[in-house]
Amino acid sequence: NQAQSGPQWERHTTELTNCIVAFLSPILPTEEEYRIKEATRRQLERLANRVSPGSKLLAFGSMANGFALRNSDMDLCCLIGKGPDGQPTTHHTASELVEILGQLIREETDFTVMPLPKARIPIIKINRSPTTDLPYEIACDIGFENRLALENTRLLLSYAMVDPTRLRTLVLFLKVWTKRRKLNSPYMGTLSSYGYTLLVLYFLTHVKKPAVLPNLQRLPPTRPMKPDEMELNGNNIYFYDDVATLRKEWSSQNTDNVGELLVDFFRYFSKEFSYARDVISLKSENGLIPKDGKTWNAELCIEDPFQAGYNVSRTVTKDGLYTIRGEFMRASRYLTNMRGQKISVLIAELC
Ligand code: ATP
Ligand code: MG
Repeated sequence: NQAQSGPQWERHTTELTNCIVAFLSPILPTEEEYRIKEATRRQLERLANRVSPGSKLLAFGSMANGFALRNSDMDLCCLIGKGPDGQPTTHHTASELVEILGQLIREETDFTVMPLPKARIPIIKINRSPTTDLPYEIACDIGFENRLALENTRLLLSYAMVDPTRLRTLVLFLKVWTKRRKLNSPYMGTLSSYGYTLLVLYFLTHVKKPAVLPNLQRLPPTRPMKPDEMELNGNNIYFYDDVATLRKEWSSQNTDNVGELLVDFFRYFSKEFSYARDVISLKSENGLIPKDGKTWNAELCIEDPFQAGYNVSRTVTKDGLYTIRGEFMRASRYLTNMRGQKISVLIAELC
């Protein structure tokens, strides 16, 4: 292993950074894709309003937090409308709404509709193949009243605005890499994009010294908070969201470039992080809490930022984690022992 410091290493990681940025640029969503997706959202919102007047259909996940790649799925959350009396304009359950709105979308649009009323979180899955007029495949999940998802989307967006380039580049690169290496399938025993994003946030907030990001959930508020900004269904959802102030007053002492951070990320999660002992908990003081064998006994434990005790990575099996760690090690080796190779070739091989 060659030394990971000095001018040669610096040149190397600078080139790596530039190559990653160049690699991502053609696979980011275009303006047109955003426009078409927004038009689709509005079309679906009109249908939701026929089921429940005053409903809103809001985007969450990657289309709303700045971590989208080209052709990524659209996550939508329907918030039920309220009448003049303050009461909801429908009293159907989420499962019933999935059936009713699903049926309406099937009748009124050219989407293929698959309602999943019995899922743990009932959703409608819809999709439409690309046509010559609309050369984009649209795949979309619609859920109901999932306000926590809207909040964690806003948290990720706020982090993305504090450090606009490094966090976003790292997350996007990891998304492409985990998808190509088949490490991004919660149904197959690996981790969701959301899970990987939390790993990156933990790494930049708690592992890197000096930190690249502040812990937004632990900065004291600078304005009076309303009760509904602090709590949602018994969950503490507070975080510091005055990003404009933060960008003026908080600047990271950490000057590492994306290449260095990526190499470090892979090394940390292949060798240093103790999967057997620790739970990653972004909002905690130093980012980790000990596994206790009761609430926390899964292979990989990542606590949701807002739902205390909820393991975002509960889908990760023993085999899944073995594969993920193996890939982290492979990536770590590739990126450290690669001097002299053409970096664009290396990135292609890595993915
Ligand atoms: P992609 O572009 O790959 O779709 P994404 O940024 O949309 O990535 P997803 O993993 O699709 O990320 O998650 C979208 C949203 O769904 C997250 O912001 C989160 O609110 C919610 N979510 C996803 N996975 C989980 C999970 N395991 N536990 C809780 N919420 C989750
Ligand atoms: Mg998504």
